[in-house]
Amino acid sequence: MAKRLKRTRAKAAVGVDAGGTYTKIGVVTPDGRVLREAQIPAEVQAGPEAFAGRVAGLVESWTAAGGFALAGLGLGLAGDVDSERGRLRFTPNLRGWDGFDFRKALGRRLGCRVAVENDANVAVWGGFIMELKRKPRNVVGVTLGTGVGGGLVCEGSLYRGSTGSAGEIGHNVVEPGGELCHCGRRGCLEAYVGSYGIVRLARRVVEKDPARARILTALCPELDRLEPRHLSQAADQGDEAAKEVWALAGGYLAIGLANVVLLLNPDVILILGGVSRAGRWILDPVEKHFAAQPFRTAFARARVKLAAATRAGWIGAAMLAMENAA
Ligand SMILES: [Zn+2]
Repeated sequence: MAKRLKRTRAKAAVGVDAGGTYTKIGVVTPDGRVLREAQIPAEVQAGPEAFAGRVAGLVESWTAAGGFALAGLGLGLAGDVDSERGRLRFTPNLRGWDGFDFRKALGRRLGCRVAVENDANVAVWGGFIMELKRKPRNVVGVTLGTGVGGGLVCEGSLYRGSTGSAGEIGHNVVEPGGELCHCGRRGCLEAYVGSYGIVRLARRVVEKDPARARILTALCPELDRLEPRHLSQAADQGDEAAKEVWALAGGYLAIGLANVVLLLNPDVILILGGVSRAGRWILDPVEKHFAAQPFRTAFARARVKLAAATRAGWIGAAMLAMENAA
């Protein structure tokens, strides 16, 4: 199999980014050319076997249509992933999927190498390749979505830690005894800058003084439907309450990232995920905080960059699969 693939020119890998609501999947060549791309519903409740079957069916239809030789498949899963054994150890978002052997199920059916990784690790690896062109040596990646994930690139390689659990930036405590996090603890970074944390902060700020949130409440009259994008729009239009929310959330992100800078001395902090679309509203408090730090060298070095790539997850998974297969 390996020999035959080496002679085939259009080598490409499949990447799968399995989220709690939908799954992004595509085919990419080693030089980053996207050949196929699709989005399918996650259907978490149907179970991991059904999911693997749907993914395999789609990949088989793509390979049957031709145009590339399958060099591997990479799968990013939200949770604590055992990448050596290709399984999910623990997951709050993909209930009932823990313990399933994705590597075996997909590898047997598709006849290729399968790499299974944490979803934040694949997104950061994808961002490292697509956004940063593998240039910086040390990168800390943070994914800001419903949850807050992290991934570490140390000396140009993905750093997984002793059990594959490294980079859980979102569950560092930034406020002892603070807001409740989805993990069950209080005061985690995610409880303030995960989208649910930001919306919770916003409700508090609006309820305290509704007059300061006129623009925000005009954009989103029902507070129950509030999303971070409403807060960015309102802040752009000068809404005082929305600006306060970003200052609070960005302030907590700054504390979390400053701890990471002191620990790891990275070249770049790459911010990915939906909440990163808040742009300068989330970036300004971080840069301000960094500028005021006493350990100048490390903070002057750490460039904070918002990633534009929306495909970083599945592309990163595919790239990892190709590197593992090489
Ligand atoms: Zn937590």
